[in-house]
Parts: sequence; structure tokens; C-alpha cells
Amino acid sequence: MRKYVIMGVQGSGKGTQSELLCDDLGLVHISVGDIFRWHVKKHTKLGAHVRRTMNAGELVGDDLVESVVRERLDQHDWNYGFVIDGFPRNGRQAEFFMESYDIDGVIHLELPEDEVRRRVLSRRLCPNCGMDYNLIADRPKEPGRCDICGHQLITREDDTPEALEARLSDYNEKTRPVLELFRRKEYVHDIDARPPAEEVQASIRDALHLPAYKATV
Ligand code: AMP
Repeated sequence: MRKYVIMGVQGSGKGTQSELLCDDLGLVHISVGDIFRWHVKKHTKLGAHVRRTMNAGELVGDDLVESVVRERLDQHDWNYGFVIDGFPRNGRQAEFFMESYDIDGVIHLELPEDEVRRRVLSRRLCPNCGMDYNLIADRPKEPGRCDICGHQLITREDDTPEALEARLSDYNEKTRPVLELFRRKEYVHDIDARPPAEEVQASIRDALHLPAYKATV
């Protein structure tokens, strides 16, 4: 059983790296942001509640986040373990998490802020199949259309300059101290997130003493 937390500023590649890590190791990727985005897309009551907060790039209340995380982990569909992404994001969430679960390692993706701005503002998403694109590094074949399903690509509503600044300042004020808390327990592996995704994945696996990545398809 392997239980990892992945941390890093927006645009540092947490989603991509989590997927690669889970793919051949049978781990479950739990993204709190994806759970909320699913609720917004499906127009659930929870989605209506968090939509405005998310679009402004602000953090959803701790009680709600904790209940979503607890409910997700209580499904116990993670026989081989999980990678949790986007949680914990502040001291209180970290305490809640450490009280309930033991963690095998924290992966910290490091990316300078000017690179974060460059990446996030060029990010595009397919609202139909969920495929991510980047207009700098990972363009769709036909501009504005998803390579997989052909749907028109959109910008995430919280990928505006204003929301990005709000998220960056929350990250610096609230999330960085969590890293220090984990660091005192020697859980943290600092990984340079600037190289191409496969190289970053190789560094993560090296740090965690895991076998090299083997694609499952
Ligand atoms: P992400 O995709 O991780 O950037 O999350 C998107 C948005 O979901 C964030 O900007 C927050 O509004 C909300 N969110 C995700 N995870 C958390 C969390 N741990 N605590 C509070 N809000 C969160």
C-alpha cells in the first residue's frame, strides 16, 4: 500500500504527474479540484455552492473539503494506495489528514512563478472528455479542437490572471507552511517541475524508490 500527497503551485503538473504515477502502479488518483469541477459540471447542489469560490480562485471552506475527502477515501477502492492532489492546502487540513491517514511520502513539484504564469495562462481544457492541452508545449493538432473527441476547447474559469494571483497568494500564505510541517516529519521530496513530463516522472520515481514508468496502453 502506497499513500502519497502531491503538492505544488498551480500549473506545476500535479495532475499529469499523478496520472503517470497511478497508471502502472494501480494507485488511485484523487484530485479534490476534479471532484469539485465534476459537481459544477453536473450542476449538483455542492457544485452550485462551490462554483463562485472556485472561479475566483479562492479556497473552499475546510469543513466541506474535509467531508469530500473523507467520503472519497471511505470508498476504499484504493487497494494498492492513492495519490492525493490538491489536498491538504492549509494547516487545518493537514492536521485532519495526518490524524486519519499515514502518508508514505509528499511529492513537492517546484516551479518558479514566472513559469507558473506562462503555463497556466496557456492552459486549455476539453470540457467533454477532460483532456488537457497547453498552447506552448502541448498544442492540439487543430487549433481550439480536442484531438480525442473534436469538442471545442475552453479555458478553465479559474485560469484568469486575477484568479491565478489569488491562488498564488493562497499557496504562498497557506499551503507553503503545510510543506514545512511535512518537512519536519521528513516526508517531502522536492522535484524540479521544469523539465518535460516524462523526466519529471522519472525523478519522482527515483526519489520514491519506485520502478521506472511503464505505460499500460
Ligand atoms: P485545483 O484544481 O486543485 O487547483 O482546485 C481547483 C479549486 O478547487 C481551487 O481553486 C479551490 O477553489 C478548490 N479546492 C481544491 N482543493 C481544495 C482544498 N484542499 N481546499 C480548499 N479548496 C480547494
